[in-house]
Amino acid sequence: MTTDPSLVLRTYADAAHTAYETLTALDQLSGDGDFGDNLCEGLDRVTGALDTHPDEPPFAVAAAVFLDEVGGTSGPLIGLLFQELARAHAAAPGQDAWPTGIHEGLAAIQRVGEAEPGDRTMVDALVPARDALRSGAGTRETAQAALGGARSTAALRARRGRASYVGERAVGHPDPGALGVALLFWSRARADG
Ligand code: ADP
Ligand code: MG
Ligand code: MG
Repeated sequence: MTTDPSLVLRTYADAAHTAYETLTALDQLSGDGDFGDNLCEGLDRVTGALDTHPDEPPFAVAAAVFLDEVGGTSGPLIGLLFQELARAHAAAPGQDAWPTGIHEGLAAIQRVGEAEPGDRTMVDALVPARDALRSGAGTRETAQAALGGARSTAALRARRGRASYVGERAVGHPDPGALGVALLFWSRARADG
């Protein structure tokens, strides 16, 4: 069974708003400060689109919004993650789409963005989440793996994205995109009850 995707996305929107100031401050340290806006505005558009298109597959709705309408480096990359979750849901209705969806979504993000683990990007949250899912972890354990991966980026110097231009300044603080993506797994655990 997969946790209701629409509830996961609505919980994610709430979580992103709660974390908005932290995400913004982290992207101000390491980038251009717009990550919190990109994520929150994108997820607000998703919840709006879920309201107007209640019969469409929620992750496909979210993918369309993030791929077509959300700015920043993170918008289209998170769009790829939603697209693969949508594909996995469609391929195996009623089954847990997350192990395959996250595996394929991470692969798509790495094909496009070419980030490796340790480059201080969202990949550092996704790899431990993917590994947890593939070893059969539950929603909470998977969320802990993603958050642990996000936290570990605090010790890393960026090799991808804007943060790679600012050198040491962001060291000691986690990567905003990694934290933002970890919140997706936290939201899934929360929606799971
Ligand atoms: P921008 O730098 O264009 O303003 P955002 O602020 O929307 O982008 O997103 C920044 C986040 O994107 C970073 O914190 C990082 O996690 C992620 N990111 C940047 N470059 C890459 C990449 N090549 N692969 C994966 N994630 C990346
Ligand atoms: Mg930014
Ligand atoms: Mg930007």
